Amino acid sequence: MKGSERMVFKEIEKHDLPDIQSAGYLYEHEETGAQVLYLKNDDPNKAFTIGFKTPPYNDNGITHILEHSVLNGSKKYPSKEPFVELIKGSLNTFVNAMTFSDKTIYPVASTNQKDFRHLMGVYLDAVFQPLFIENPQILAQEGWHYHLEDPKEDLIYKGVVYNEMKGAFGSPERQLYQQISAQLYPNSIYRYESGGDPAAIPGLTQEEFVDYHKKYYHPSNSFTILYGDLEIEKAFYDLEEYFSGHGKLAEEVDLSFNISQPEAIEFEDSYSITAGDDPKDKDYLAIGWHVADPTQALDSFGLKVLEEILLGNNQSPLKKALLDANIGGDIDGGSEELGYPTAFFISAKYSDTQKMTKFNDVLNETLKNLVENGIDPELIEAALNKITFQTKEAAISEDNPRGVLYAITALSTWLYGEDPYVNLEFSKYLDQLAKLADTGYFEKLIEDKLLNNPLRIEISLKAEPGKNDENEAAVLRELQEFKSNLDTEEINALVKNTKDLIKRQDAPDKPEDLAKIPTLTRDDLTTDVPDYPLEETSFYDGTSFYHAEQFTAGIDYLGLYFDISDFEAKEYEALGLLSNLLSNLGTKNYDAAKLQTEIDTHTGGIYGTISIFENQEGKIQPYFVLKGKALESSFDHLVELLKEIMTATDFTDTVEISKITQRLISGFEGAINSRSHILVANRALSQVRPATKLSELTSGIDQFNHLKTVREELKGDATDLSLKLTQLLHRLLNKNRLNILYTGEQGRVATVKETLREAFFELSDEPLGEAIVYQPGIKQNEAYITAQDVNYVGVGADAKNILAFTGASNVLATAIRYDYLWNHIRVKGGAYGSLYTHRRNGNFALGSYRDPNLRATLEVYRNLPEYVLNLSLTKEELNKYIIGTMSPLEQPKSAESKGIAALSRLKNGVSREDLVKLKEEILATEVEDLATLAEDIQKVLEEDTVVVIGNKAQIDAEESLFDEIFTLY
Ligand SMILES: [Zn+2]
Repeated sequence: MKGSERMVFKEIEKHDLPDIQSAGYLYEHEETGAQVLYLKNDDPNKAFTIGFKTPPYNDNGITHILEHSVLNGSKKYPSKEPFVELIKGSLNTFVNAMTFSDKTIYPVASTNQKDFRHLMGVYLDAVFQPLFIENPQILAQEGWHYHLEDPKEDLIYKGVVYNEMKGAFGSPERQLYQQISAQLYPNSIYRYESGGDPAAIPGLTQEEFVDYHKKYYHPSNSFTILYGDLEIEKAFYDLEEYFSGHGKLAEEVDLSFNISQPEAIEFEDSYSITAGDDPKDKDYLAIGWHVADPTQALDSFGLKVLEEILLGNNQSPLKKALLDANIGGDIDGGSEELGYPTAFFISAKYSDTQKMTKFNDVLNETLKNLVENGIDPELIEAALNKITFQTKEAAISEDNPRGVLYAITALSTWLYGEDPYVNLEFSKYLDQLAKLADTGYFEKLIEDKLLNNPLRIEISLKAEPGKNDENEAAVLRELQEFKSNLDTEEINALVKNTKDLIKRQDAPDKPEDLAKIPTLTRDDLTTDVPDYPLEETSFYDGTSFYHAEQFTAGIDYLGLYFDISDFEAKEYEALGLLSNLLSNLGTKNYDAAKLQTEIDTHTGGIYGTISIFENQEGKIQPYFVLKGKALESSFDHLVELLKEIMTATDFTDTVEISKITQRLISGFEGAINSRSHILVANRALSQVRPATKLSELTSGIDQFNHLKTVREELKGDATDLSLKLTQLLHRLLNKNRLNILYTGEQGRVATVKETLREAFFELSDEPLGEAIVYQPGIKQNEAYITAQDVNYVGVGADAKNILAFTGASNVLATAIRYDYLWNHIRVKGGAYGSLYTHRRNGNFALGSYRDPNLRATLEVYRNLPEYVLNLSLTKEELNKYIIGTMSPLEQPKSAESKGIAALSRLKNGVSREDLVKLKEEILATEVEDLATLAEDIQKVLEEDTVVVIGNKAQIDAEESLFDEIFTLY
C-alpha cells in the first residue's frame, strides 16, 4: 500500500482503552469529513460496522425498509440478494443490519482476514451503490405492494417489512415502549415508529425512498468502526474507494433536540387480545421519565445501577412494593437508551387501568421512603457488583463478536457529538459510583431523576378482545373498496405488477452476477476442530467431576449436575418449575431479599436449569442443574450459596411462588412473540422424540400449560404444592446423583473439588431407582391460537435411520435454508423468516416465523423433496454452500460455553474426531451427493406431524388440517 492513500484519512486522536484491551484511533476522511474509529487489539474476530444517522420523519418505516433494500443488490454485486449470498458462502461470525430510532448500522465480523475484507467490500457497495434506486420492485418486495395475482381475488398488501412489523405490533410490550418514546418526546423524531407502522407503510413512495438514501447515506453522515487484529491499510483503501468523490455534505445531521415538557401526562391506548378472551387483569400500565442525554455519562451508568437497585429482582424494594400492592402480576422497567435521550420507565403487566392512581401512590411512597431513610448500603453494593461483574465478563466473552457490541457502544455517544470512548471506559465510572455510594448519590438520583422530575408521562394500555381481527378486516375492506373503484385497465396493471414481481423472485440470478461476489476457496478452509479439554475424575462413588480447562480471567464457572434419569416423565413439569424457583425463594438462613443481595454481592449469578443429553444410541441422560459463577476470591461464598439454595430452599411462601410463576408465564408469552418458530418445531418433534418431549415438559408448551395450572392452584390452599416441591428437592439431594462441571484453570481444581465434596458430604446415598425409558408425546397435528395476525408453521419428524447425518446432508441444509426456504417462505411468502434443522440425533424440523400463510407454507414443505431432486448447482454455488456450512462450526465461544460444549460432546457421544470427519465430508461434497437425498427427505416428511401457533381466523379456516385446536393464551 502506498503512503498517499493513507493520507486521505487523517489521524485526529489516539486513546488508550484498557477496559477493552484496545487502543482507539480516531481518523477523519479529509474530503468528506467521514469519521473512522479503529479499535486496535489482538482479537482475531475482526469487525467492521458502518452506521448512518437516519432520522425518520413519520411512521412509514422508511429507515427500516431502506436497511432491507440496500442489501438487495448493488452496482458491483448485482445479484438479487448479495446479503444472502454472503451468509451462504462466508465464514462470517456476524452479518446483519439493524435500524434504531435514529440510526441504521451494518456490522460484519469474521476471524479470517480474506473473508473479512470480502464482507466489508460487499457491505460498502450495498450501502453506497444500491440497485433499488433504479428498480422499484425492491421497495415493492421489501416494503409493500398491492398484491393481486388474479383480478377475481381479494386485493391485499404484501411486503417483508410490512409483515415483519405486523408481527412486531402483536407484542403489547413493544407497543408500550413505543408509546413511552412517542409521548415523552413529542417534539422529536423519537415519536415515530422507525420500524414502520403497518398502517403507514403503504404511504411510502419510491421517490421519497430514493431521496432519503441520497441525503443520508452519504460518507459525511457515516460513522465507521473497525475492530480487531486486521490489516488497517487495506481497510482504508476499501473505504476510500467509496468515500472519495462525494464531497462534503453542507449540513450536518443533528440528532440533538431541546427536550420539552410533554403536553399531557396521561395517555390511553389499547392492544389486542384474542377475540372472546376475558380482558380482566390484562391491561398494561407504565410511568416514564426523561432522565439523561449523552453528555451525562456518570448519571447514565448510575441509572443502570439504580435500575438494578429498584427493580433487579422480585425482592428489590420498588418491584416488591408494587407486586405486594398488586399493581400488576409482573413489574418491569429500567433505564432505556432510546438514542439521544435516555428514558427511565416502570411498567406493570396483568394490571387494570383503574390502578394507575394506586400505582403512582405506591411508587411515590416507596421512592420517598428510600430517599428519606437511605437505600440499604448492602443493596447498593450488590447492584454495583452485579453490574461490574457483567460488564467485565462481557469484555472477555467471545460468544458475541465484541467488535460489534463496542461499535454500538461507541455510537451511543459519538453520534451526538460526544467522543466515542465514553462508554468504553466503564471502570472509570463504576469506580466513581462505588466512591459516591455512601454520599447519598443514588438517593439524589431518585429525587432528581424520578420524584421531582416534571418530564414524566403515564401510559395505560387496555386489553381489547379481537382488536387485531377488526383492524385486519377493516384494512381488507378498505382495500376491496379501493379495488372496486379501479377500472379494468388499472386492475390489470396491478395484476401485471404482481406477476412481474413474482417473475423477478422466481428468476434465478445470472451465474456471472453471482460470480462477482467474492468468496473463499476450499483451500481457505481447514478441517481443524478446536479441542475442548475435559478431564473426568471420580467425585463421589460412581459420580464424576469434570474439569474443562480454560482461561477464564479469574472466574470460576460451576455446574452441579443432578442425575434425574429415574424421575417419571410426568414429574418433569414440576422439575422445570423447581429449576426456576431455586435462588429466587428464601432459604433456611436467608430470606429471599437477603439471598438476592448475597448472590449479587458475591457471585456473577446463580440459577437452575434442566439439561438433557442424548447419545448416538438414543440413550437419554437428563440432569437437574444448578449453575453459578464467581471470582476466585469469592469461591467459598459461591459454594456456600449453592449449598444453601440446593439444600435449604423454603417452599412455604406461596405468595412468592405465585409471583415467580406469574413472571415465568409472562416470559413465556414474550417468547411466543419472539421465538414461536422454535416452539412449534420442538412441539412437533416432542411427538416423535422422547428427549425432546422432556424438554417440552420442562420448557415448552407443556411447561407453559403447567405454569397456568399452578397459577390456579396457588389461588386456593397451596399447601400441597409446597409439600410437593419440598419432596421433589429432597429427592434430588442424593450423592449418587451429583456430578460437577468446573470450567476454570488447572491450578484451582484440587481446591474446587475438595470444597464441593465437603459441602455436599451430608447428602443421602440411598441407591437410585431404575432409569426410566421415556416415551414421546401423542402424535397428532395441533394448532394453538394466539392474538397474533401471523402464524408460525412447524413440522417435525424423526429422521434417524432414514436420512443420514453426513457432510452432504449438512451442505444440503445450507441450500434448503438460504435458497429454498428463503425464496419461498420469506421472499415470496412474505414471512419474516424460517427454520430448517437436521441434527445428528435424528431431529428433523421445519418452521416459519411471522408468516402470513399457513396451508401454502405446508405446501412449500411438501415440495422440498422435489427441490432437492432437481437441485443442480454450479461448482461456484456448491462451493458457496460448503463455506456457509463450515461457518457455524467456526464460531468463537466464551470459556463458559467451551466448558459446556466439552461436556455435551462427551454426553452426546460426539468426539472431536467425529467433527473433523464431518468437516472432511463437507469439504468433499459433490453436487451429485445432494440430489440423492431427495428420496430420504421424502420418507422423513411422510412421517411428520404439524404444529401451528397463530391467527384464529386462519386456523379455523384450515380446521381440517388439525387433530386438535387449542387456545394458547
Ligand atoms: Zn427488518
